[in-house]
Amino acid sequence: MVVMKFGGSSLAGAGLLRNMTEIVKTRIKQKPILVLSALGDTTDHLLESASTALNKGFVSIEKIEDFHLKTIEDLALGAELQKEIKNLLWELGSLLTGISLTRELTGRTKDYLVSFGERISVRIASAYMNSQKINARALDAWDAGFVSDSAFGQAELRKESYIRIASSLRSLTAEGILPVIAGFIAKDEDGNITTLGRGGSDLSATVIAAACKAVEVQIWKDVDGILTADPRLVKEARPVELVSYDEAAELAYFGAQVLHPRAMQPCIKTGIPVLVKNSFNPAAPGTRIESGPIQNTPMIRAITGKKNVTLVDIVSTRMLGQSGFLARVFSEFAKNGISIDMIATSEVSVSLTLDAERDLSTVCRELSEYAGVEVKTGKAIITIIGDVCRSSEILCETFGICRKLGFQVPMVSQGASKVNISFIVNDNEADTIIKELHGFFFMETKPKKPPGMKRTCGPSVRECKEII
Ligand code: ASP
Ligand code: MG
Repeated sequence: MVVMKFGGSSLAGAGLLRNMTEIVKTRIKQKPILVLSALGDTTDHLLESASTALNKGFVSIEKIEDFHLKTIEDLALGAELQKEIKNLLWELGSLLTGISLTRELTGRTKDYLVSFGERISVRIASAYMNSQKINARALDAWDAGFVSDSAFGQAELRKESYIRIASSLRSLTAEGILPVIAGFIAKDEDGNITTLGRGGSDLSATVIAAACKAVEVQIWKDVDGILTADPRLVKEARPVELVSYDEAAELAYFGAQVLHPRAMQPCIKTGIPVLVKNSFNPAAPGTRIESGPIQNTPMIRAITGKKNVTLVDIVSTRMLGQSGFLARVFSEFAKNGISIDMIATSEVSVSLTLDAERDLSTVCRELSEYAGVEVKTGKAIITIIGDVCRSSEILCETFGICRKLGFQVPMVSQGASKVNISFIVNDNEADTIIKELHGFFFMETKPKKPPGMKRTCGPSVRECKEII
């Protein structure tokens, strides 16, 4: 059994739904379970309509309605499906009316609202597959067993989901039915609809794969796999053939728009490989993600950038020789529900980065009772995923390039997973440095390691675990 997940850009309209069906047909012997995103940019359009209802007080769903009804018409699907989708659109319209009247949009309502994208998508896709003689069945995520906590917008799945998913999907596949599951969504224990964070259908797919012990998860996108850099920025970016789970997770956390950051977790636990494929170019090999360490690692695997980051410098001489100081600092952030991305510490200071949207006033007030706090906005994290056994070479070249460009680097950190080196620059310098680094590391022919040079690092984290 394989899990095949198709993202919105691979499903944007009738032609692409046909294309997806053809791809599925070629893999039908592998007993696929499908996980789908909302069609095209529907999630963005739903969020836009919510903000129109909230801020301007009027309801507009024409764009969403026209697009879905046209797709149904183009695929020549019957009146029954049209009625079902019209009912969902009517429900969506009523919800938006509620938002426009109350001028209120809670996390719970927002999740309910965006869920329509995936719920409509699976119904259209499976009706089309049925018309193509595939015995498909659309399932809302909760009917497939997805139960989450109530953290709307960023829900975590409950452990029991795994057992429920395995039993519901196994019985369907045993009957020869191809399940088509709405990604991204779940329900909490009170029956409220929740979402797993933007791009969350990747996580839905890997959870299903882990629950059903699939042999592989295929993530079908609109690019040839994980690329060496963002292709919108670096036109020479090229696909990476093989990466480890650790590397893929670091790439996702630090801005590569390739996979949902939490999507690797179920695979790391179960060892199920993930294949990132291009639905517009199915013949391309794509990127394979599997457990490391991977032999013959190149010096650099990929470079990513994450903009709009805030840097917080906390300085206190009280930190000197004290135990528990860092715990206190981090607990201030934890109390306020603020997640930290990067950290660098010295004996008397700690620098950390956060997403810019967070309100830091309370944390800063509390921290300034015992430390000097400086908040610097407009920063970017540049992350290099590579072979840390060559970290001094990577750092030397990287900072040489920063120096040449006249960019200062206020913070550097090497991830504990030992695959990532991250550093901070100003937001407006990020694109230039990524292009320069990509040009240097990927486009030029560099001298090979001097003959006889030994691996100078100790064992990797994974190797250590194996040794223990
Ligand atoms: N449709 C949702 C989004 O656009 C989830 C997903 O595509 O994975 O974020
Ligand atoms: Mg999407």
